[in-house]
Amino acid sequence: MLKTADVQTKKTILIIEDEPHIVMGLRDALEFEGFKVLSSGKGREGAQLAASSSPDAVILDLMLPDMNGYAVCEEIRKKSPFLPIVMLTARSQETDKIRGLDSGADDYVTKPFSVNELIARIRAIFRRTSRPSAVPESLEIGEAKVNLGAHTLRSFGEEHQLSFYEVELLRLLYERVGMAVSRDEILQRIWGLDASPTNRTVDNFIVKLRKKIERTPEKPLHILTVYGFGYKLVLERAI
Ligand code: CA
Repeated sequence: MLKTADVQTKKTILIIEDEPHIVMGLRDALEFEGFKVLSSGKGREGAQLAASSSPDAVILDLMLPDMNGYAVCEEIRKKSPFLPIVMLTARSQETDKIRGLDSGADDYVTKPFSVNELIARIRAIFRRTSRPSAVPESLEIGEAKVNLGAHTLRSFGEEHQLSFYEVELLRLLYERVGMAVSRDEILQRIWGLDASPTNRTVDNFIVKLRKKIERTPEKPLHILTVYGFGYKLVLERAI
């Protein structure tokens, strides 16, 4: 049974997918979890719906009849830079995943996927955003000035937009600044996933953040790798 607080904060998920049985399965599971569900079987219409109906998260299929998912993702990003987007892909090649993340997707799930796993990810998105955080909105990490509230990062004369997961990852590392945070804990707390040694999600996001924060991303001074364990944030370069 839903509690009053849940009803008041009912979140809307937009599904952009043309395979009816997948839409139906996801709709049932998400509605059962208390989400409101919108859906579209076309890319262009889905992108328009993302702009007009302000969903709280989007599940986007890569293969759509009129437009591919990458293009839809870029279209959505123009109007909603911070909307969490989870991409569904039938392909498992790493290059497709990287391309998906480059086009602005926050996360991806490879088909065939477990509905429970996808729901866990969606739940994790809202658990993170509803939790009050002790981390200040403005951070300075080396030469980068970050505004977590505005989702922006300014470094080396350039202004970058940060995605939902980039902000959450920085927030988590900052909470424990100077200490190592395990990859498993990051996966669990931000993506709502069980630890998996083959999951490269965290590493892909670290690469993206380093490109924005580090002067030489291949030789990072601020987002450090703790080998065989995870990552550590260092604000000032050690002398
Ligand atoms: Ca499809």
